[in-house]
Amino acid sequence: MAMTEELVRLGKALADRQLVAGAAGNISIRDETGTIYITARGARLDAIAAEDIACICTDGSTTGRKAPTSEHLIHTSMYKAFPDIRVVAHTHSPYATAAAVLRQNIPPIVDEMTILLGGGLSVAAYGAPGSAELAQNAVEAMGDKRAVLLANHGAVIAAENVEEAVKLAELCEHVAQVFLAARAAGTVYAIPADAFEKQRGIYLKKTGRGGEKNDG
Ligand SMILES: [Zn+2]
Repeated sequence: MAMTEELVRLGKALADRQLVAGAAGNISIRDETGTIYITARGARLDAIAAEDIACICTDGSTTGRKAPTSEHLIHTSMYKAFPDIRVVAHTHSPYATAAAVLRQNIPPIVDEMTILLGGGLSVAAYGAPGSAELAQNAVEAMGDKRAVLLANHGAVIAAENVEEAVKLAELCEHVAQVFLAARAAGTVYAIPADAFEKQRGIYLKKTGRGGEKNDG
């Protein structure tokens, strides 16, 4: 089925780019009916088999040979909060995780960040792995953007399709790497405010998300 193929494609793309290692990380796709196809507990993203995919129905019931990932609440909370999102990826990529350990929001430091992610990369308040608190913190810190860091944990990407999810996961890792290197070398400057506003405008127009305030 198409959703399974998309999930396999996304898992392989993330693994090929070293954004997920082994079974660390989990991904999901929501179909038009609202059913969420999600990787099962312990699934390796570089080689997702049919039995590694569980389904979460709109009534919350699950089907599949294995239980959904223990981080399923992050996925279901993202879909609930953002109706335009079809793909959620949770990674533990090294630089994004390192930045999340610093617990310092990354300002919009490179131009493509705001156009693609919606602005800077915020760090969500700490929540225990698998907890509803972690999922709620992630949604709140993401705001109207497309990605967020989880304190001492990793990153979450919310995208409209598989290609965008891969691109954003790569961008988060790149941005975190650049931020850490720049911060170690000296003062970090965000892009100028007028450029940021212009790029935010492009992002809001592209995503149709214009209703919420954003502090970068
Ligand atoms: Zn995790």
